[in-house]
Amino acid sequence: MRMSQLFLRTLRDDPADAEVPSHKLLVRAGYVRRVAPGIYSWLPLGLRVLAKVEAIVREEMAAIGGQEVRFPALLPRDPYEATDRWTEYGDNLFRLKDRRGNDMLLGPTHEEMFTLLVKDLFGSYKDLPAVLYQIQTKYRDEARPRAGILRGREFIMKDSYSFDVTDEGLEQAYQAHRAAYIRIFDRLGFDYVIVKADSGAMGGSASDEFLAVLETGEDTFVRSPGGYAANVEAVTTVVPDAIAFDGLPAAHAEQTPDTPTIETLVAHANAAFPRDDRPWTGADTLKNVLIMLRHPDGSTEPLAIGLPGDREVDAKRLEVQVSPAEVEPFGEEDFARYPDLAKGYIGPGVLGTENATGIRYLTDPRVVDGTSWITGADVHGSHVFDLVAGRDFTSDGTIEAAEVRAGDPAPDGSGPLELARGMEMGHIFQLGRKYAERLGLQVLDENGKLVTVTMGSYGVGVSRAVAAVVEGSYDELGIVWPKEVAPFDVHLVVAGKAPELFEGADGIVADLEAAGLDVLYDDRPKMSPGVKFKDAELIGVPTIVVVGKGLADGVVEVKDRATGERRDVAVADLVATLTA
Ligand code: ATP
Ligand code: MG
Repeated sequence: MRMSQLFLRTLRDDPADAEVPSHKLLVRAGYVRRVAPGIYSWLPLGLRVLAKVEAIVREEMAAIGGQEVRFPALLPRDPYEATDRWTEYGDNLFRLKDRRGNDMLLGPTHEEMFTLLVKDLFGSYKDLPAVLYQIQTKYRDEARPRAGILRGREFIMKDSYSFDVTDEGLEQAYQAHRAAYIRIFDRLGFDYVIVKADSGAMGGSASDEFLAVLETGEDTFVRSPGGYAANVEAVTTVVPDAIAFDGLPAAHAEQTPDTPTIETLVAHANAAFPRDDRPWTGADTLKNVLIMLRHPDGSTEPLAIGLPGDREVDAKRLEVQVSPAEVEPFGEEDFARYPDLAKGYIGPGVLGTENATGIRYLTDPRVVDGTSWITGADVHGSHVFDLVAGRDFTSDGTIEAAEVRAGDPAPDGSGPLELARGMEMGHIFQLGRKYAERLGLQVLDENGKLVTVTMGSYGVGVSRAVAAVVEGSYDELGIVWPKEVAPFDVHLVVAGKAPELFEGADGIVADLEAAGLDVLYDDRPKMSPGVKFKDAELIGVPTIVVVGKGLADGVVEVKDRATGERRDVAVADLVATLTA
């Protein structure tokens, strides 16, 4: 490929809307171009990288027996209505109508379509197991498209689906995918972690996420020195041992005027009721947070969450715990309906299905029997001290909704947790029989009995991966592609204007190509060497060959883009050196 012919304009300046390195560099180096927010075109260089990522994914999917198909992106409403996702997807779904007025959508993911395809063609256990996949364009009207192709509204995903009769079969398909994903992400070469995506608290099946470790990532995950890694949503609290009630002081209400916040309460407690051993802290208080749940049928239900006052409710953890219900604020008008709630001074005394308000009350797992708390006395300006869980109050159960903090113990005992940022690159998920049930995917088993098929669903963000590779591999000069996904193997720059240099370079390029190397040949006759070098660094091909003055002595310079290391190589040895 000759640079003089290549459809490419590199840019000196970062695009105004770019926040993250991959976005800046992929636009500046001419890989992608914005069309609208979250919608990008792929230019020749970008398409080459994309094709390499796709090739890796195809190889590893083939290795586990996956067969490639391709669905349209434009889909009818009915299948998505059958699974409720036409509605559940909310504003994220691109909906449209055809000329007859039929509802259509642009596929955000294709579980329904794959389920129906298998239902359409297969009828016996002998047809299974099966793994089908596609590499295809998906549409989601993301609330915050950002960071270029990292979070697009149109993006490319590899989605595969496994179909099995037995749970063991599903487990095998799941493990095969897990292993394939490890190979895919190892080959792509960015730093990643595999995190447990779901605590299983809601009866969820196995699910792992592959996160690229990125400071600019949108997900927070935790890891421990002992190798535990999980999504914040999946972290379970290490529950302390219960404490015996004997000898614990009796609860007593105290006047605590103007202490509606934990901060003011702790300050007041230390001033008016100091402890002998140490000061009171937020961790000694039990704060009770009210929210409103909206259930899928539209009904609402208040919920009270009791947690140590030094922790906030984590919106994402809470969301997972109460799903499919959604969390809404508990507003002034809600408080008005419950006169027993003394806002700012709410305590377990009125919470719980057995108590005055009848509001369901769930507590943090740290609130074990025998723990003593300062908490609201349900009267304005008053708190109870030494209120003991299990002795003076009980809840309707526990909930994992409190924030996870650095230093918290890992659930598996592998040490203190550290918080880090990541971006989801892949997700494997045991769907089970939900979709098959909804869409009637059944096959005859060995005994001629109809059984419902069990499924897995597995995604890789293919276009996102291109950006993630860049996020993990760039410097102040530009992109530094790992060999496996680089758009070319060699970037050959002619440094000079003498015709002999170009003639010599033509011959070298022909030799390299004959040896199977993809060469980007900067043959632009009038461009200064400085500009050409800048472009080469920006574009990021792993090996840069400079044909310059040394050619007269039969020597070219070979530069490693990643290390910056340069060495002179005899033209006669070049092919051998670069293919070694
Ligand atoms: P996220 O939490 O990042 O929105 P998701 O949970 O919605 O991801 P899935 O529905 O599991 O993602 O989709 C499978 C894969 O598709 C993800 O792991 C991710 O790599 C990729 N992906 C999802 N949304 C986008 C997007 N808007 N742009 C680019 N890639 C995406
Ligand atoms: Mg999403």
